[in-house]
Amino acid sequence: MFSKILIANRGEIALRIIRACKELGVETVAVHSEADTDSLHVRFADEAICIGPAPGAQSYLNTVRILTAADISGAEAIHPGYGFLAENAEFAEMCTSNGMKFIGPQAETIRMMGNKSKAKELMIKAGVPVVPGSDGILNSIDHGKALLKDIGFPVILKAVSGGGGRGMRIVNSMEEFVGSYQMAQAEAQGAFGDPNLYLEKYIQDPRHIEVQIMADQKGNVVHFGERECSIQRRHQKLIEEAPSVAVTGEMRRHIGEIAVNGALGVNYEGAGTIEFLLDKDGNFYFMEMNTRIQVEHPVTEMVYNRDLLKDQIRVAAGEVLGYKQKDIKLNGHAIECRINAEDWSRNFMPSPGDITSFHLPGGPGIRVDSHAYQRYRIPPFYDSLVAKLIAYGKNREEAILRLSRALDEFIIEGVKTTIPFHQKLIRRQEFIKGDFDTGFLDRISLIND
Ligand code: ADP
Repeated sequence: MFSKILIANRGEIALRIIRACKELGVETVAVHSEADTDSLHVRFADEAICIGPAPGAQSYLNTVRILTAADISGAEAIHPGYGFLAENAEFAEMCTSNGMKFIGPQAETIRMMGNKSKAKELMIKAGVPVVPGSDGILNSIDHGKALLKDIGFPVILKAVSGGGGRGMRIVNSMEEFVGSYQMAQAEAQGAFGDPNLYLEKYIQDPRHIEVQIMADQKGNVVHFGERECSIQRRHQKLIEEAPSVAVTGEMRRHIGEIAVNGALGVNYEGAGTIEFLLDKDGNFYFMEMNTRIQVEHPVTEMVYNRDLLKDQIRVAAGEVLGYKQKDIKLNGHAIECRINAEDWSRNFMPSPGDITSFHLPGGPGIRVDSHAYQRYRIPPFYDSLVAKLIAYGKNREEAILRLSRALDEFIIEGVKTTIPFHQKLIRRQEFIKGDFDTGFLDRISLIND
């Protein structure tokens, strides 16, 4: 096992990693920006190093400063969390060439999966079903037009280097196509520094189903079933759960196997997620692979009773998984709400500032992953996630009841949060019945509920 790990992240995920390290007996080094001096990850790590001013480019995205901090502190490995440098292949390479283990897959795997059209090509080779489309970069407008004759409308144009729900554009007709293509290209260049696009059939009202996998360096790969993340606002996930009401045991085995094959096909190592769309006829289509731990990993931890962070660190240190697919048993149901510092009634406008009052919910089946506390100041520079509230129950009904009472117990004052939004949403009949898809939230209004 490593003796010391540097955590190249902030917020709740930095804390989550520190917790895993402590339980593994590993020392931790936090890095932080000037805006995060009073953060809990700084307080709970064994050492903390300020790496620069608030803007990400000068701190959490600054590879040289982070590697220098790792060097000075004598860390043997770097955990990137999610976001920031987690899917940055160059950074992974820099870690390796500086003699440090990057906790994640090989740089080459990150690079291949980060290029969404390349990822699709590789998955097709591994026998994974994909959404019909360009199966590679769209070379020109004419190339697109020719494909559209076969695929039909609607289609979705996506940035090859896109992510985080951005860089996508739905196209409904040939007339719209040229304008949309040019706009999407310009947007992709501006947002991701890469104008390349690919094209996919737009699946009507699909569910977002993703499979958690874990792989060691010896070629052992297992899956931990699915998470359903269809409750999204503008392609951003707000509620995630495991298992999905739309997935039967047989379907779980089927996509689990597909995901494991996909991971084997790219020599995957560590924790990863393969995302699928599930259409109304029960067909799964590969969308992308996230080569890191995800925000919503706790729902899987709850229903499989495993610590995915500890496993991720153990396999990075060269340990074998130590368990097999048949040892992995699904038990119960878990739902996570992302509590963001946003005013949901005003178009989810960010609401940074001082938390004047803070009270966590508790009791049976409740877990909260949060870096916030009373008098914590939420800086305006980073994402707005303040807490992840996870409710576990023996079944979905009990999980919802616990989630509901926990949301009522959760007090955050001084800033606006999405707690009232979640309270309304989980009381909707569609949610209670599990009758929703990725377009559900954008179609309804909760304002008058
Ligand atoms: P990102 O990496 O930005 O999260 P994804 O490729 O994972 O992008 O897509 C995010 C969301 O966009 C999906 O969960 C789904 O709601 C929607 N989406 C993406 N591709 C399609 C498609 N071909 N048809 C319908 N919806 C799609």
